[in-house]
Amino acid sequence: MPEAAFFPQEIIRRKRDGAALTGDEIAFLVRGLADGTITEGQVAAFAMAVYFQGMAGPECAALTRAMTASGVTLDWREIDRPVVDKHSTGGVGDKVSLVLAPIVAACGAAVPMISGRGLGHTGGTLDKLESIPGYGAVPGLARFKAVVADVGCAIIGQTDELAPADRRLYAIRDVTATVESVPLITASILSKKLAAGLGSLVMDVKVGSGAFMTGIEEARALADSIVEVAAQAGLPTTALITDMNQVLGRTAGNALEVAECLDFLTGAPAELRLREVVVALAAEMLGLAGLAGGEVEARDRVETVLSSGAAAERFARMVAALGGPTDLLERSGAYLPAAETVLPVAPDRPGRVAALDTRAVGLAVMALGGGRRRAEDAVDPAVGLSEVAGPGEAVGPDRPLALVHARDRDAALAAAAALKRAVTIGDGGPPPGSLIHARVAGPA
Ligand code: URA
Repeated sequence: MPEAAFFPQEIIRRKRDGAALTGDEIAFLVRGLADGTITEGQVAAFAMAVYFQGMAGPECAALTRAMTASGVTLDWREIDRPVVDKHSTGGVGDKVSLVLAPIVAACGAAVPMISGRGLGHTGGTLDKLESIPGYGAVPGLARFKAVVADVGCAIIGQTDELAPADRRLYAIRDVTATVESVPLITASILSKKLAAGLGSLVMDVKVGSGAFMTGIEEARALADSIVEVAAQAGLPTTALITDMNQVLGRTAGNALEVAECLDFLTGAPAELRLREVVVALAAEMLGLAGLAGGEVEARDRVETVLSSGAAAERFARMVAALGGPTDLLERSGAYLPAAETVLPVAPDRPGRVAALDTRAVGLAVMALGGGRRRAEDAVDPAVGLSEVAGPGEAVGPDRPLALVHARDRDAALAAAAALKRAVTIGDGGPPPGSLIHARVAGPA
């Protein structure tokens, strides 16, 4: 049957006026997005219309399907392990993927993880891994598949072949203030995950001052939307809503975060908040992948592969297989770049960390050179913060807020001043509590 004649401006007008678009209209728009026949202005207008009018579940599912179909879909049938991934909506010091992927691989799953670079105040997993000399974050799909088959996990960057329509849409949203839309974020994330051919997915939806979603209601709306649309697309998905009102772990900055992850994997006592989030996400992944009978068994398996060194060994093999050093675990100091200047940041008065503007901390790392303002900026892998004091922790003359790692003293002093502004010191900290605020599961 010949396709009905569609006009982009008519579809945009209908969305602008609050109509629900049909699957055919959405498929037409997405084809035009991918082949360039729909102009940048039209894409921007469409994104803004969706931003204000939203999308019903079936529309968002149609957008997700069409964007998935704009490129290739990976096929893992030759791998005899369940294929599972985790995706985070992004935060400050969010180094979870570096530890989680090898843990879950060591427990018997295949983890083909396609990650992003940092932008603005949030760090990106790829930037962290690229602080390892030689690490090839864009190896091509054939090599990616070979490493996942051999090692059990590989963390690489977005490729042109998977969901190319999302690449164009995201780039336009990024410069037109239309990123923060629940249906657009849902379709963007899920189209890439569906194209990656996963068997199941765990979402880490961050909430708080360092996250995209600063309030629990927005975070829940995003988690609900992703879980619902994923279920319609046949991808079993669970979401955890986790706290981003604090730097996750002790470090923020690329090489510093890799070093923290190596310590975690090789048995040094991990920072407890980071450990809590990693173990909870790993247990979810093992449950969804059918590799554990329940939460207790899943957590036991995670502890076993951490204490036996099996997870560390997977990480080392992944790094070596993607072009990094073969002895990173043994000689990380010889490889990870270090900053020239290290400066402790003393608080203005002794007390406890009562609150943290985590976004401001991320921006301070970006200003040091550890993140990027624009997608084309280069990052400095060595700079950032270490020994970051967490909520409730006592600080004073003998316990700084953090150590700043900088290119020079002026940059260090500017970051120190920004950090002090970002931290509220009180006499008591916030009440201790779990970082896992909620769990959203799809239909059983
Ligand atoms: N991450 C994505 O991949 N897409 C979005 O739209 C937002 C965050």
